[in-house]
Amino acid sequence: MKLEINHIVFKNICKIVTNDNLNAYVIGGYVRDLILKRKSNDIDIVVVGSGINLAKKVAMSINKNISVNIFKNFGTAMFKYNNDEIEFVGARKESYQRNSRKPFVESGSLVDDQNRRDFTINALAISLNKDDFGQLIDPFNGMEDLKNGIIKTPLNPITTFSDDPLRMLRAIRFASQLDFTVSDETLEAIGKIKNRISIISKERISSELNKIILSKKPSKGFILLEKTGLLKLIFPLLDKMKGVNIINGKAHKDNFIHTIQVLDNISQKTDNLWLRWAAVLHDIGKPATKKFQNNNWTFYNHSFVGAKMVPDIFRFLKLPLNSKMKYVQKLVLLHLRPIGLADSEINDSAIRRLLFETGDDIDDLMTLCEADITSKNDKKVKYFLENFTTVRTKLKEIEQKDTIRNFQPPISGDFIIKTFNIKPSREIGIIKDSITNAILDGKINNNFDEAFSYMIIEAKKLGLKQI
Ligand code: ATP
Ligand code: MG
Repeated sequence: MKLEINHIVFKNICKIVTNDNLNAYVIGGYVRDLILKRKSNDIDIVVVGSGINLAKKVAMSINKNISVNIFKNFGTAMFKYNNDEIEFVGARKESYQRNSRKPFVESGSLVDDQNRRDFTINALAISLNKDDFGQLIDPFNGMEDLKNGIIKTPLNPITTFSDDPLRMLRAIRFASQLDFTVSDETLEAIGKIKNRISIISKERISSELNKIILSKKPSKGFILLEKTGLLKLIFPLLDKMKGVNIINGKAHKDNFIHTIQVLDNISQKTDNLWLRWAAVLHDIGKPATKKFQNNNWTFYNHSFVGAKMVPDIFRFLKLPLNSKMKYVQKLVLLHLRPIGLADSEINDSAIRRLLFETGDDIDDLMTLCEADITSKNDKKVKYFLENFTTVRTKLKEIEQKDTIRNFQPPISGDFIIKTFNIKPSREIGIIKDSITNAILDGKINNNFDEAFSYMIIEAKKLGLKQI
């Protein structure tokens, strides 16, 4: 079978290898995605010979100014052209030792190179040689598996996974990303070899987890992680959410199932990885707070407890400990707050407080709340959704009226120090907080004059006088 490939890089490679009497192929993910009509910007070229030399020549043939990054230790080289990253490597043969995913590498043939690939659908190559330019080289029937949506290893799965256990996660990630099925034999092998995941770094694990979370229906990946036993090893706290207890005939919902449903729901609304992470973690405090009291299951304070767990989880998974983590933590903490706010009895101050605490993340919080509705009862779903529509309307009204969202109190700590000629002290915080609260409670308006008068009154209570 011949494929249409008309990238200028491929044409130039063809000319150069013909001239130098070499053979080169485009291989792996790019070929898979080309056939699946998925956009892909990383192109892997394998040459029977030196990848570095070929990269230099090809870059030169396109534009003298392209700089080529050379990784001598790996025998690879890459350059960027437009939006594409093109990587060149010599065909290689690999053998593995037991305690490392770093193989012993020697040069090899195209077939050797295809043998070391993780899945049949990732072992496809297209010839860039003059005689058969565009010809698909598919030793493991990968094309058939692409058509049928099957993930399976080209060689014995136990060996393939044992050699490099990261491949187990890649299998599940591809199933989730491409909405494919992992073949029974391959899945079984994961179940058997799963403990070897311990030799894989947390960074690599999280990178695959992130790709699962970013897929269209991430529950697919999480169900496979759970089913194979990998979840317990790579993300034990999420695994702990599984299961249902029943006391006096009363059951609570399975929080793992609920969580992945919320994740699927939110994935229909946003591609923001961190908002999706907030969905993954929103109920993570539930196992720790679960109690059966007054003949009912309760998870008292689970949002607070969950939010406190977020930094440790990020540290454990080697996710960034920066503003992204803070953002996820905030959403976990606040995810129950909007629920009661639709009630007509609720006064504006509760809305103002929520706006003040969430700032620009208020829309994301509402998206999370809406995704959190997983009832099977359509009437309930409709009722809750309408509830949140009312909250959104109220939020908008208050926001327009009071511009609380990124509110800074109109009186600063410095100003208080100067006005009362005092040293930095506890009193300043007390006065500032009382002004902020007065504004949020609607006692005074959000402007300098009213805040100033209020400050004088509050300061007086503390025995301070204006100088
Ligand atoms: P994506 O780019 O979406 O992560 P990909 O399949 O292109 O998917 P890359 O990591 O870019 O993955 O790797 C390119 C190719 O290299 C793969 O298609 C596969 O043939 C091979 N490959 C990558 N990682 C492994 C691995 N751990 N074991 C075996 N082959 C691998
Ligand atoms: Mg790739």
